[in-house]
Amino acid sequence: MTRTVTILGSTGSIGVSTLSLFEQSGAEVEIVALTAGRNVEKLAEQALQWRPRLAVIEDETLLPVLRERLAGSGIETAAGTAAVQAAADLDASWVMSAIVGAAGLAPTLAAARRGAIVALANKESLVCGGPGVLEVARKAGGTIIPVDSEHSAIFQVLQDPCRDKVRRLILTASGGPFRTWTYEAMRAATPEQAVAHPNWSMGAKISVDSATMMNKGLEMVEASYLFATPENQIDIVVHPQSIIHSMVEYTDGSTLAQLGPPDMRSPIACAWAWPDRLSWPAAPLDLAAIGQLTFEAPDLKRFPAIAIAREALRMGGHAPAAMNAANEVAVGAFLDRRIGFLDIAGSVQDTLDRLNGGWELGDQPGGDELEAAMIIDASARRVATEVVSQLAAVRAA
Ligand code: NAD
Ligand code: MG
Repeated sequence: MTRTVTILGSTGSIGVSTLSLFEQSGAEVEIVALTAGRNVEKLAEQALQWRPRLAVIEDETLLPVLRERLAGSGIETAAGTAAVQAAADLDASWVMSAIVGAAGLAPTLAAARRGAIVALANKESLVCGGPGVLEVARKAGGTIIPVDSEHSAIFQVLQDPCRDKVRRLILTASGGPFRTWTYEAMRAATPEQAVAHPNWSMGAKISVDSATMMNKGLEMVEASYLFATPENQIDIVVHPQSIIHSMVEYTDGSTLAQLGPPDMRSPIACAWAWPDRLSWPAAPLDLAAIGQLTFEAPDLKRFPAIAIAREALRMGGHAPAAMNAANEVAVGAFLDRRIGFLDIAGSVQDTLDRLNGGWELGDQPGGDELEAAMIIDASARRVATEVVSQLAAVRAA
């Protein structure tokens, strides 16, 4: 049966993996819309191959290029933030949410609001929008299926009838490229070193998040919302091989894990076919070749982002959304070489401290979830921009 599909963020790492999976599995898809931020060449190339009804580029200055590349193809083109959201509004039954950052929230909500199946890679949109995002999907009769590998793992081993018998969710973390580095070495880490992930090939922002381990912090919030689990029942263990993608421990002492080679096409396939399984030539899990699966506790001194996220989650309300916004600003500044690597977590903490003095971070945002999230996101970005500018000025002096 042919399924209608929209991919938000089609030119990114997850977007490309999604299209690759369609190709490899021979899944019958009719692409409704493809959207990208700035990579107009890749978007045009994908559009010519996949023939969507609509191709959208967020950066409006690139619309003439997109039009020119797709001239005579019959593919409709559009540009701008509103056009990305309008693409999510179109009637695709399965939507891959793979934009990076809180910019993905409005289109993700648009797809959820009309009852689509939303394959959610964009964790920041959930952290920013809060549990209300899931409620929107539920009310509309749709579903949000996690694509983040850890959450896909938990989704697969969390047995519904035993939800109240879960003792802990155990998120695995690769530890990132700086797992074995000293604090002093991390101080001088460059963007090139931070984005060189040992196991996964990903976009720049999530790669830096993996290096600071804020990625695991965001994932802790994501898991808490997705699986309605409090912070004190979510643990993190470093597992450098990235073979066990996460685990659920039950009250009878049994722990269920989901394993697989580190390839995002696997969790995407799960979100595509659930509760069925998709057939595609996935690499086999060769445990004898891997040899060893090892585990260690995360080092909270070198990776304070984990503790910051835990505290934000404990605080509840606006705090995780503010943390996410501050982190996006800090990662951007680090990638622009304006602040150092250790300044990322430092400035997120500083931003939260400053915000907490001004208004109650722990308060539950009222009103429409998108509106509330955008207000929090904007305030936190304003403060984080100040914090980062001060750090950058000190560094430049
Ligand atoms: P990426 O940077 O490779 O791709 C991001 C996509 O979003 C691109 O198509 C880009 O053009 C588009 N985009 C960027 N800014 C935009 C904006 N303001 N408006 C509209 N479109 C915009 O990122 P990625 O690695 O594919 O990650 C995407 C999301 O999936 C992130 O939220 C990330 O945390 C999550 N995720 C990624 C992986 C992975 O293996 N890459 C794993 C788990 C979760
Ligand atoms: Mg993950």
